[in-house]
Amino acid sequence: MIDFEMPEVIAKQQYLLKTVADNMMRPVSRYYDEHEHEIPWDYIEFMHTAMKASGAGSLAPSEGGEKKEKKDRPRIGYQMLAFMIEMLSWGDAGMYLVTPGGGLGAAAVEATGTPEQKRRFLERFKKEKPAFAAMAMTEPCCGSDTAAIRTTAVLDKETNEWVLNGEKIFVTAGDKSLTPYEQLEPGFVVVWATIDPKAGRAGIRPFVVEAGTPGVKVTKLEHKMGIRVSDTAAIVLQNARIPFDNILGSPEVITDKKTSKGFKGAMSTFNATRPLVSASAMGVARATLELLKEMLKQEGVEIRYGLPRAKMTNIEREVIDMETMLREAWLLVLKAVWLADQRQPNALTASMSKVKAGEVVTKITQKAVELMGPLGYSRDFLLEKWFRDAKINDIFEGTGQINRLIVARQILGFHGAQLR
Ligand SMILES: Cc1cc2nc3c(=O)[nH]c(=O)nc-3n(C[C@H](O)[C@H](O)[C@H](O)COP(=O)(O)OP(=O)(O)OC[C@H]3O[C@@H](n4cnc5c(N)ncnc54)[C@H](O)[C@@H]3O)c2cc1C
Repeated sequence: MIDFEMPEVIAKQQYLLKTVADNMMRPVSRYYDEHEHEIPWDYIEFMHTAMKASGAGSLAPSEGGEKKEKKDRPRIGYQMLAFMIEMLSWGDAGMYLVTPGGGLGAAAVEATGTPEQKRRFLERFKKEKPAFAAMAMTEPCCGSDTAAIRTTAVLDKETNEWVLNGEKIFVTAGDKSLTPYEQLEPGFVVVWATIDPKAGRAGIRPFVVEAGTPGVKVTKLEHKMGIRVSDTAAIVLQNARIPFDNILGSPEVITDKKTSKGFKGAMSTFNATRPLVSASAMGVARATLELLKEMLKQEGVEIRYGLPRAKMTNIEREVIDMETMLREAWLLVLKAVWLADQRQPNALTASMSKVKAGEVVTKITQKAVELMGPLGYSRDFLLEKWFRDAKINDIFEGTGQINRLIVARQILGFHGAQLR
């Protein structure tokens, strides 16, 4: 039975997460927004220690609370993550993306790796120093059209190594995953590449590229509109050689060019991570609504709940509509993570939650700036920053348009080639 309540284990951590958001995120939000590419080491080190101490390990489902569940207890790994991410993003969505742990890279390993690979690649997140992992799909040629990616992986049969060549752009945490910072354990990037460019999506496979691999270089850090504390890197792979068993999944299936199992792995990664991006959007939207109501109160405007709509002021109606949108979107997030925890197909709900959350956070932050007028536009408050931070939720992990397309395909029963 789907449960909309906050899991007890998270309720217990709520105080810690709120304390982190209040004391380690909000006070430095503006600083890191204005000092793009500076790394918040205090936050990273604190979160690593705190997550280890609390048993959460990292922000990845099997690394986190799920592993601690007893067999007869319900699975709540993704649900837990959704609550945690919402709370951290309430503090600062960009800094949440700088929380050490597996991120998208670990999610890809989780979705596509064998048990041995999960152990091998994910154990670094339990070490003394924090570590990061990233996922690189997008290329200069293509992002939404993932089947068209051009990075190649060729098997060198003499050395039994994969040789990767190509360019990846807009990789979240790509720098922290690959650059040898002394404060960090070496990380990795899951690079999606084709083993047969003529095969389209059937040729695409995920490869783990470890930090320090010769031929792998971070070539650029993006300057962005929002979430500026989170690094977004361009990566070039030039004859980068990796061991044969760094191809994620069972090698027999994964090297058979006739199946599209590798590509399905990309899709199942997104089904797991899209609701978590939606949860982050919900944190920004909730923060915005709370600050908006506080600012309105200071201006002498309090929302009179319970009045007939016709008797309300326009501002009251606007705020109540925003709160309704937020709740609708959050319910979709909860359903998508619940399905993921039950190991039930969630492609439809994951994309629906992403469409709705991206739209709702964009509308709420825009409306809040508008309602507060010059105060909304001023850098004295975080509203204008959250307005900028919000938009990414409509872009990464599939744009609003692409997720709408996925919803339509799921409902109509069409596959990618029939509805594009
Ligand atoms: C801050 C940031 C972080 C990111 N992090 C990562 C990351 O960690 N890993 C990663 O791999 N990528 C990442 N991305 C890339 C992101 O996922 C892509 O930018 C996104 O998927 C869009 O792809 P694109 O850039 O090729 O744009 P395009 O696909 O060219 O899209 C441009 C516009 O066309 C629309 N469009 C495209 N195709 C269709 C269609 N069939 N029907 C209707 N409309 C369509 C899109 O919705 C969009 O509005 C990140 C991007 C940003 C900005």
